[in-house]
This record gives sequence, C-alpha cells and structure tokens, in this order.
Amino acid sequence: LGRHRDDRRQSGFTYNGVEFSQSNLNVFAGLCAVDVPEHVEMMMQALEDHGEVCTRMGAYKPRTNPYSFQGHGKGCLPWVFEKAGKHGIKVIAMEITHESHIEEIDNCLEKLGRPTGVMLQVGTRNTQNFELLKAIGRQNTYPVLLKRGFGITLNESLNAAEYLASEGNANVIFCLRGMKTEAGQPHRNMVDFAHVPAVKRLTRMPVCVDPSHSVGSREQSPEGILDVMHATAQGVIAGANMVLVDFHPKPEKALVDGPQALLMNELPAYLEDIRLCHDTW
Ligand code: PEP
Repeated sequence: LGRHRDDRRQSGFTYNGVEFSQSNLNVFAGLCAVDVPEHVEMMMQALEDHGEVCTRMGAYKPRTNPYSFQGHGKGCLPWVFEKAGKHGIKVIAMEITHESHIEEIDNCLEKLGRPTGVMLQVGTRNTQNFELLKAIGRQNTYPVLLKRGFGITLNESLNAAEYLASEGNANVIFCLRGMKTEAGQPHRNMVDFAHVPAVKRLTRMPVCVDPSHSVGSREQSPEGILDVMHATAQGVIAGANMVLVDFHPKPEKALVDGPQALLMNELPAYLEDIRLCHDTW
C-alpha cells in the first residue's frame, strides 16, 4: 500500500463503476444498522433523490454488550441488496465480523444477479484481527474499508492494512474514526482528522473519515451547527476521500447509535456543505 514499496504513484481503484482514489471524494451516508425495510427504503430513496450512489448499511454489528441488538445478519441481505439495486446504489459499505460473512454476502449477491456492490468494512474492534484480515485479503472481489484501531498507534493500524495487501487485496480505504481517550468527553472519541494528510503522505490509500463514530452525538455549537457537521468539514478540508456518516429517518427508533444519526431533512445541507469544503481543495 505504498509503505513498503517503491511505486507510490498508483493510487486508488474503480469498483462497480465508482472511482476511489486519493484525489476524489465519495460520500457513504446511511444506516448504522439495518432495522426495518421502511427505513432502508426511505434512506435509499433520499440518496437517489440527491444523486448519491453509495451508502452504509450495517447487517453484522459488533456490540460491546452481548445483550444489545447484534444486527439482522444474513437474513436482511436479500432485501437490502434488492432495494439498493432499485435505487441505483452501486456500493454499500458493510461491516463484517467473521470471514464466513464474505461468503454469505457473495452468495446472496450472486443469487440476485449482483444488483449492487459491497465494500467490506473492518471495524475498529477488529483492526488487529489478523485472521479476519488475511481472509479478507485473500479475496479480490470486494474492496475493503479498514477502520483505524481506536486504542493502538497509527503505525499499527497501517500495518493492519498491509495484512490485506500482503494477502493480495490492495483495494483498501483507510478510515479515521477517532481515538479513545481517558477523558472520553465531550465527544465519544477524540477526533483525529488532522491525520488525513499524514496517512495520504505515508501510503497510497484513499482516506475516509467517520464523523459519526468520532463525535458520537448530536451536540451543537453555540452557532447551532452540529458537531458531526463540524467534524465532517474538518475531515473534508483536510483532504478526506470518503465520508462514512450515519443518517436515520427516525433516530429515536434506531437500534444502534441513534443519538449520533443525522436526520433525513439534514441530508441536502450536509451534502452541500461537503461540496463547499471539497471545493477548497
Ligand atoms: C460502524 O461504522 O458501524 C462502527 C461500528 O464503527 P467503528 O468500528 O468505528 O466503531
């Protein structure tokens, strides 16, 4: 991925018609966790209305508490993929927590005639799950979104990315999502988006930011701007190539991370804000 090789010119890849590189920007707004078809439909309809072709949809959720909702798993894949195809969604960022999920996703997409594409997401809790990384690295069908580990060094997280590449899959996007701090307040994590240019300098991976999991709430500045929006602007101005962000039609009904989700009526202003920040490049 550029760290251990001489050729640093080649950057990025195209997947299912969508280009990912260190010089463009893709927005993945969507549900943190798939819940009911109605919410998935509303989300995808809104994205289609705004010309967006990527989304995030969590089917397999890694939860801190074993009694919390763990995601619908493979049961929701058919209807999520069908709806994605219907609304022109080309890439869904979807976290997997076990290598068997790759086959579940692949079988389902194949059965449906591949109406959409999937980017396999490795969450921050699995950044150093080396066997999972190796399994994902061994396949070349799906690109990978690797989250930075929230309690390890940047260098250790970049080495995790190298596990994917060393097994054969170099279509990797590296995602900053904030770091755990002892204080833990006022945000869920310490936002680390100043590292966007550093990662782009150190590697040839496109860099994603996840303002939702970084900030973790709908707190606002005194001017009335949501902290998630401020954090997004910081990431995009710093040169982020992808934004992964939680939206929900009814955050109070969301089964995971509702308090950090943006509302559907905030989508147009949010996308416009990103465009303005991107124009500063
Ligand atoms: C997520 O994006 O749904 C998620 C759980 O993120 P993280 O791994 O960064 O906590």
